[in-house]
Amino acid sequence: MEVDVIQLAKDTEICRNCINVVVGKGNEKAEILFVGESPGRNEDEQGLPFVGAAGKNLDKLLQEVGLSLNDIYVTNILKCRPPENRAPLPDEIRAHTPWLVKQIKEMKPKIVCSLGNYATKFFLANGEVDKMEEQPGITKVHGKIKIMNFEGLQIKLIPLFHPAAIIYNRALVTEWEKDMEIVKNEIKINNH
Ligand code: URA
Repeated sequence: MEVDVIQLAKDTEICRNCINVVVGKGNEKAEILFVGESPGRNEDEQGLPFVGAAGKNLDKLLQEVGLSLNDIYVTNILKCRPPENRAPLPDEIRAHTPWLVKQIKEMKPKIVCSLGNYATKFFLANGEVDKMEEQPGITKVHGKIKIMNFEGLQIKLIPLFHPAAIIYNRALVTEWEKDMEIVKNEIKINNH
């Protein structure tokens, strides 16, 4: 019997305790998918990813490079807010990412931008949660394109700093802008 991946996530304690399950926003037909970590308080209240401070920053950063929600889809590793915004636990990642994989298989993005360490390590480990810890961190791999086969799909993974990290570290803005130029170039290449 096929596993109901949505139920698998909803059966976790964080999902039983959250206000809203946060699935995603943007254009499901876009070629580019952004994947963050987990919903925070505002996201939980509104049922949408990246609507709080990190989201405002993401909007601004995207706008600066000429991208809008029409060009991308945005989701998270976890679909529910962990209490006190704590980091995702391995078991939660295990229970929630089959839903992310389902989204990816439906959307078939050409480019996946992983935001921050959790999303980046998840993809670098090719979805194997046990192998996440041994992956290099975002400081090392941001802006480095990795062409990979993920669940039978050829994707270009582009790790980016998490927009929340950028709020508190202005020096990262320059890095983010350089990384986004790489993303923009890849979109151009894909559209030829
Ligand atoms: N941070 C994330 O990683 N995701 C959100 O949806 C909001 C903040």
